[in-house]
Amino acid sequence: MTKALGIAVCACLVPCILCAVEASNRYRSPRNPERKIRQSTELIVLHTTEAPARSSLNKLSERGEAHFCVTEEGAVYRIVDRDREAFHAGRSMWNGKEDVDKFSIGIECVGYHDKPMPSVQLNAIRDLVAELKTMYRLNDSQVVCHSHVAYGAPNKWQKKNHRGRKRCGMLFAMPSVRSQLGLKTKPKIDRDVQAKRLTVGDDYLRKVLYGNVDTMRQYYASAPAKPAPKEEPKSGIFSWFRSSAKPSAPKTSSKPKTVAGTFKAPPQSLAELKAQGFKQVGVVTKEVTASKLVGARWNRADTYYTIRNKVIPGNTINPSKIEIGMAIWIKK
Ligand SMILES: [Zn+2]
Repeated sequence: MTKALGIAVCACLVPCILCAVEASNRYRSPRNPERKIRQSTELIVLHTTEAPARSSLNKLSERGEAHFCVTEEGAVYRIVDRDREAFHAGRSMWNGKEDVDKFSIGIECVGYHDKPMPSVQLNAIRDLVAELKTMYRLNDSQVVCHSHVAYGAPNKWQKKNHRGRKRCGMLFAMPSVRSQLGLKTKPKIDRDVQAKRLTVGDDYLRKVLYGNVDTMRQYYASAPAKPAPKEEPKSGIFSWFRSSAKPSAPKTSSKPKTVAGTFKAPPQSLAELKAQGFKQVGVVTKEVTASKLVGARWNRADTYYTIRNKVIPGNTINPSKIEIGMAIWIKK
């Protein structure tokens, strides 16, 4: 199809009889009849598609992987009927209960876990979440992101079942973004980690979910509905995916912080790595794994892998693609 998504959206938005938020049935999943009616609803789980709208909608619909999908334009699509189970949470646990699909609603938001979303989209998510909260009598802390509930099985980097398999929807744990969504509280503690059912496999993610890390603060004032700035800051690691105007300067005097503590462009070459003060700590071999070299820092945004002149940040590297001969760089 070559028609712009925007045109398609306008043509097929139909009001839902039961709710105030208008949702389109254009991508309603053919999987609906085979999905069980959900017995309870204890969480709303927010995801980021990590892909553009059209391909995401097609995939979500085909596989029945969410209840709703909200595009960057703020259009809401119904995928799986909200009283049925959608397969959105994957391997998941919350308060000792596995298979979060059985007791949650999943909302996919077109965008990326570490990039700000346009305010029109956040407004649509806010309205949808508000409506579902009322419908299922949920409080703000029952609105979580996929990272809150996903966990990973033991692998060669993690010996135990661990929180930190996915960074999906991670921005929705940040207070600045939650305030845009009208959410005042968030889960205070990971009860599965506390009870030692899971260990922490991604310390940066833990800080986002339960600590003070909020890399979106610079983009959103505390009041909801402030228009998102539109241009990619040349020096920023957060690139705006649709834009042309300069982002408004942060209101506070402090500089926006990244994981590395400064708001520099991520290094693209060995020379830039060195210029920014990164030191090579070693090279991955058959015996020496990345976690042997840098421990829990292996998947952090301020850890870099280099091979054949490529520079790959740790937070984007696929563990299965870490290869022998890769050098690892960190700031000590
Ligand atoms: Zn997800």
